[in-house]
Amino acid sequence: MSDEPKNPFEEIQKQISAALGGKNVSFSIQKGPETSTPEGEKMLGQNAPMHEDEELILKRIQEFSLKPREIRDYLNRFVIKQLEAKKVLSVAICDHYNHVRQCIDNPALLEKEYQKQNIILLGPTGVGKTYLMRCIAKLIGVPFVKADATKFSETGYVGYDVEDLVRDLVKVANGNVDLAQYGIIYIDEIDKIAGSSEAFGRDVSGRGVQINLLKLMEDTEVNLFSPTDMMAQMQAMMEMSRGGKTRKKTVSTRHILFIVSGAFDKLGETVKKRQMASQIGFAGTSEDSIKDASDFLKYVETADFIKYGFEPEFIGRLPVRQACDQLNKEDLAQILTSSEGNILAQYKHDFQGYDIEFNITPEAIEKIAERAYKEKTGARGLLTVFEKVFRNYKFELPSTAVKRFEVTTDTIAEPLYTLKELLKEHQHAQRGVMGKDIEAFSQRFAKEHGLKLEFDEEAINALIDLAIETDKAIRTICEEKFRDFEHGLKIVSRNTGKTTFAIDGALVENPDKELSQMVVESFKELEAVKEEEVED
Ligand code: ADP
Repeated sequence: MSDEPKNPFEEIQKQISAALGGKNVSFSIQKGPETSTPEGEKMLGQNAPMHEDEELILKRIQEFSLKPREIRDYLNRFVIKQLEAKKVLSVAICDHYNHVRQCIDNPALLEKEYQKQNIILLGPTGVGKTYLMRCIAKLIGVPFVKADATKFSETGYVGYDVEDLVRDLVKVANGNVDLAQYGIIYIDEIDKIAGSSEAFGRDVSGRGVQINLLKLMEDTEVNLFSPTDMMAQMQAMMEMSRGGKTRKKTVSTRHILFIVSGAFDKLGETVKKRQMASQIGFAGTSEDSIKDASDFLKYVETADFIKYGFEPEFIGRLPVRQACDQLNKEDLAQILTSSEGNILAQYKHDFQGYDIEFNITPEAIEKIAERAYKEKTGARGLLTVFEKVFRNYKFELPSTAVKRFEVTTDTIAEPLYTLKELLKEHQHAQRGVMGKDIEAFSQRFAKEHGLKLEFDEEAINALIDLAIETDKAIRTICEEKFRDFEHGLKIVSRNTGKTTFAIDGALVENPDKELSQMVVESFKELEAVKEEEVED
C-alpha cells in the first residue's frame, strides 16, 4: 500500500469540475457527529455509536493511568472465571495504552520500533471472550467494533472489506477520527479463515483475508470513505458544496488494538492427541483423556497455528495468546448471582417495566444453570433457557393482575403449568384489571379527541366478556368497537354542544347502529333549536 492513499472521489470530482466549467473542486471530510449516517449505524448492528463527549474520552486516553490489577478488578465485576485471561489482557491493555500515551507526550517515540500487543483469544463459544474485551473498551472509553472474519472478502471483491472495520470504528466514535485511532477491533471466527486444506479444506480467500488483516494490524492509513460506499460519497459531495474546511481523509491503524478470537475446535483436538501421545508410557490412562479438546488450547504453539493454516507473519502479529476456560454448571449459576448486568438482572428489569417483580429461589438458579450447561453454548445457554421458561410469562403477565411471583424449580420444569396456576390464583382480580384498561381507553380517547366516554357497568361487563371470549386485549376490542366514534361523536358534539357521552350495553352490542342514531338525533335537535330561534 502506498503512503498516500488514492482519493476515492477522484472520478466524481472530475465530473463536478467539468460541470462547473473546469473549476477545481476537492472534497473534505467532515470531522464530527455528522459522519455517522443512519445507514452507517444500521450497518453497524451491534456496534452501536458512543454517546459520551468524545473530547473528554480522548483526554482520558491521553491521561491513561490504569494498572493491570485495577483492570482485573473491574473485569471481576462482570466476567466470571477466566482468571488467566483477565491477567493477560490487563497487562496487554496497560502496555498498549501506556505506549499510546507516551507517543502522544513524545512523538519522537513513533519513530521507534514497537511490537503492538494484538491479542488472540481461543476457546469455546459463550465463555466471555468478547465480553472481556467489551468491558475493557468500556472502562477505557475507547470505541469498540466486532465483526466475524467469515464476512470479509478479499479487497477488490464486492462485499465487506477488512478496511471497513476501521471505518466502522470512526462511525462508532461519532466521526471522531482522533478517537477512532485508539479504538479496539475485535474479529471473531478467525479460525474460519485458516488457509490450509488440513483445517477445513478451505481456499485461498482465507489466506487473502489474512494478508489484508496483516496490513491493517501494522501501521497503515485507511481511507475514511470506502470507494464502494455510495452514501459516503454523496455525503462528501454535500460537504463539499457546503464549503467545509480541509479535514483528515484517512485514519491510521498504528494505535488500533486488534483482538482476534475463535473456537479452534480442530486445533484443540490436534493438541489433545499430541499431549496424550507424549503421556503414553508415563501415566497410562490419564485424567486428560476425559477432558474436552478445548481444554488443550492453552498448550497451542506457533507451529500449530501455522500447520492449521495461518500465515507465519499473521500469527506473528498476534503476540498475546490466551485460551479461555469452559464454563461449568457452577460458573453459570455464579453468573446469575454475581455478575453485574447478567441475564437474570435483565429479566427482572424487563418485568419491572410493567411493575411486576419476581423472586427466584437458589434451587431454581441451579436448575437453570444445569439446563443451560446442557446447551453446550457457554453462558449463551442461559439466554436460551430464560427465553424458553419466561416467554409465556412475558406475554401474559403484563395484562393481568399479577404483580409478584416466585420462580421455583417447578417454574423451570413446567413453565406453562405454573403460569396457568398463577393466573388462576389471580382470576378474581382479572376483571378489575380489564376494567382499568377500559378506563385507560376512555382517558386516551378524551385526550386525543376532547370527548369523554362514560361506560356504565353493563357496557364494561360486555366488553370484558368479549375480550375473554375472543382472547383479545381490551384495547383491541375498544378500538374495534369504537372505530368510527371519533368522527360521529364530533358531529354530535358540534350539533348539540355535548362533550360527554354515556356508553351502555346496547351501544357496545351495536355500536354502528347506535352511533348513526345519535348522529340523526343530533341533527333533529339542531333543527328544533333553529326553529325555536325563528319563532322567538
Ligand atoms: P464468546 O466467548 O463467544 O465471545 P461472549 O463473550 O460474547 O462469548 O458471551 C456472550 C454473553 O454471555 C456475554 O455477553 C455475557 O453476558 C455472557 N457471558 C459469557 N461468558 C461470561 C462470563 N465468563 N462471565 C459472565 N458472563 C459471561
